[in-house]
Amino acid sequence: MNALPASRMDCLVVGGGPAGLVAATNLARYGRQACVVDRGETRGQRPRHPRRGPGVPGAQPGSRLLERILRQAEAAGVVVCRGVVETLARDGLGFVAEVDGVLVRARCVLIATGAIEPQTVACPLPLRRGHPRVWLHAAAAPAPVVDTMQAIRFARVPVDLAVALGARRAGDGHLEVDIRQSTCVPGLYAAGDVVAGLSEVAVAMAEAAVAATAIHRALPPNRH
Ligand SMILES: Cc1cc2nc3c(=O)[nH]c(=O)nc-3n(C[C@H](O)[C@H](O)[C@H](O)COP(=O)(O)OP(=O)(O)OC[C@H]3O[C@@H](n4cnc5c(N)ncnc54)[C@H](O)[C@@H]3O)c2cc1C
Repeated sequence: MNALPASRMDCLVVGGGPAGLVAATNLARYGRQACVVDRGETRGQRPRHPRRGPGVPGAQPGSRLLERILRQAEAAGVVVCRGVVETLARDGLGFVAEVDGVLVRARCVLIATGAIEPQTVACPLPLRRGHPRVWLHAAAAPAPVVDTMQAIRFARVPVDLAVALGARRAGDGHLEVDIRQSTCVPGLYAAGDVVAGLSEVAVAMAEAAVAATAIHRALPPNRH
């Protein structure tokens, strides 16, 4: 993996799944310096048979698709780094991020942090007369008494970095964006599973292309 850029970049892309890599590739084609920082847990590797992907007849491992997208990004000049963006703050008109203890600066940021695998959790229902009681055992807390419980499956969406800057989340927990994939924070964009919509590779890539174009137009003009 590459080293983090020392100087202020045009766009820091948080997350190297299909959304992050395609956005960075498009930015590079617009002549913008983009760096992807990725923790390495993309769900893009998961689809074993991405039948929902356009132009993919039959089964194709998701990892092969992602590998190609990564190769394309690097060929376009995108810097892809393995790491975790731990914090994100405003820095004048731009942003400063802490990546594994190192500070990096960018004019714009794209949040492409995806979603985390759905988990099943047991949720207590309120006590009602006549229902059998169930003890829920929590490791660090006294076990509460409830009369019944329900199992709920939900995907957690990592939005904390954006929300800390003032970005809004929708009722379902995803980040709110406008038609240009812009959050309500100037310079902060989001694409892919982290925003509400269909969780599909093609959708993530389309949103990424829209975001890259909006970021390019928001930056000072260049020759493109
Ligand atoms: C089992 C399964 C089957 C699927 N099947 C299909 C299918 O057939 N067809 C289809 O189109 N789609 C399918 N999908 C959905 C598809 O995988 C997702 O829509 C797609 O991966 C979303 O891309 P993304 O870039 O938004 O997020 P992701 O691919 O999840 O990538 C996000 C990346 O951001 C990284 N990250 C998060 N936080 C940070 C941080 N703070 N710092 C650095 N990096 C960070 C994560 O580690 C991850 O690598 C499937 C998903 C699953 C789980």
